[in-house]
Amino acid sequence: MRIITDISTLRKTLAHARARGKTVGFVPTMGYLHEGHAALMRQAKMEHDVCVVSIYVNPTQFGPTEDFKKYPRDIRRDSSVAKKEKVDIIFLPSDNTVYPQGYLTYIDVENLSSVLCGAYRPGHFRGVATVVARMLGMVRPDALYLGSKDAQQVAVISTMLRDLDVPVQVRVVPTVREPDGLAMSSRNVYLSPQQRREAKVLYQALQEAKTGIRAGERKASRVVSGIRRKIAGQTSGKIQYVACVQWPTLKPLTKLQDQVLIALAVCFGKTRLIDNVIVRLSSRKV
Ligand code: AMP
Repeated sequence: MRIITDISTLRKTLAHARARGKTVGFVPTMGYLHEGHAALMRQAKMEHDVCVVSIYVNPTQFGPTEDFKKYPRDIRRDSSVAKKEKVDIIFLPSDNTVYPQGYLTYIDVENLSSVLCGAYRPGHFRGVATVVARMLGMVRPDALYLGSKDAQQVAVISTMLRDLDVPVQVRVVPTVREPDGLAMSSRNVYLSPQQRREAKVLYQALQEAKTGIRAGERKASRVVSGIRRKIAGQTSGKIQYVACVQWPTLKPLTKLQDQVLIALAVCFGKTRLIDNVIVRLSSRKV
């Protein structure tokens, strides 16, 4: 495994691999790697000859009061996780490499970026879309691996790639969870033992909602209020939002049909957790 920090070495190394007919799978991350990231790497490695993982805490996707400075970083630990997954290249660029002096170009995927998390994190998805486009220009992979844990990110990036005709395949990997159901996240390390115990309720609430829908519930407001009630009743978390929207357009729904994304964000102290499930309903009336 190589750790590469500059674009020209990255380009040369990948051009050499491509010239020998090899394909490239790319996993963009912010590091502090866990089993969720490992699942993306494993799938990329299974489907491609070369797996590139980027580790870059992207400043443009953090708001001024968010945890950019405090975001956990540990490249030694990350290297050993990546090595275990047989990653070929860790791309570890500096801020100056990603945003060189004079950098002026940002990507705004309208509508999709201003709902759900976007309503509470203005500019977040502009930063995400920009850094992913920037990384794709540097890595030029055949396929991009994303986690469904960040479902809105999947919708935003897939739309950007469609609209800009970027020839890269998107592969979405299911959310990897702790044994009690909590979605793995680099931010989970910031939960106190009590918050950590409570945090499992998020997924339980989503699962109960899914069961209710499977049993015939079709009213979005009732699904949302059921989830809210459970989280408010069983945790000290502050709910930022709970929403049922159409997947993958993220349009609001009153009556549930087709593909439904149930998404939520809850703050435990300063730690903001997100989770979601997608429910696929047949279009036939029940
Ligand atoms: P991050 O480092 O948090 O920016 O995440 C990098 C990639 O890993 C994104 O595509 C995330 O959706 C994905 N990811 C993060 N957590 C998980 C998880 N628990 N399961 C699956 N994928 C994940």
